Amino acid sequence: MRAVISIGSNMNDRLALMTGVYRHFYHDLVAVSSMWATPPWGGVEQDEYLNAILVVDTSLTPLQLLREGQALEDAAERKRTIRWGPRTLDVDIVQCTTPDGDSGQEEILSDDPVLTLPHPWATSRAFVLLPWLEAEPDAQLLGRTVREWVKELDPADIGQLRAVASFPPRETSR
Ligand code: AMP
Repeated sequence: MRAVISIGSNMNDRLALMTGVYRHFYHDLVAVSSMWATPPWGGVEQDEYLNAILVVDTSLTPLQLLREGQALEDAAERKRTIRWGPRTLDVDIVQCTTPDGDSGQEEILSDDPVLTLPHPWATSRAFVLLPWLEAEPDAQLLGRTVREWVKELDPADIGQLRAVASFPPRETSR
């Protein structure tokens, strides 16, 4: 399957934590965004986040990929204490798709609270949609393009985001 993964960090060495996830998925990557500086969401006083999107082709199932992301969070010593609070590392599965046999991709849908697909925030959060649009300009989500979803965002939210750093360059053999 192909998976769109959102990663974020607002504690410790954010750049190193984000790059660690990038390296973990390096051989599965098909697209990657810049790292975007984004304001915290949810009202808790905390530092700015770095957010990015990684698109991977993987032989894992969606649940296995979720567990892998959670293992990376645990390795970053994320403490699940304050809801919406600061975090060393957040790894969310935004979307999973499989080839539809017609050179397109079909979305895997799930309303299971353990793994909801697409991620409930996918259509409404600038910190997901803007990096995703950058990584995959033609991406589709729930029957619309990501570009169309971006147009629905509050321009004030969009204006607060900026691409600030890049992951190490990738070899271009794939
Ligand atoms: P958070 O603390 O925001 O990282 O949320 C983690 C919880 O959300 C975990 O219990 C996951 O099982 C659940 N969850 C549901 N859907 C997803 C998803 N698409 N990606 C990541 N976590 C998810």
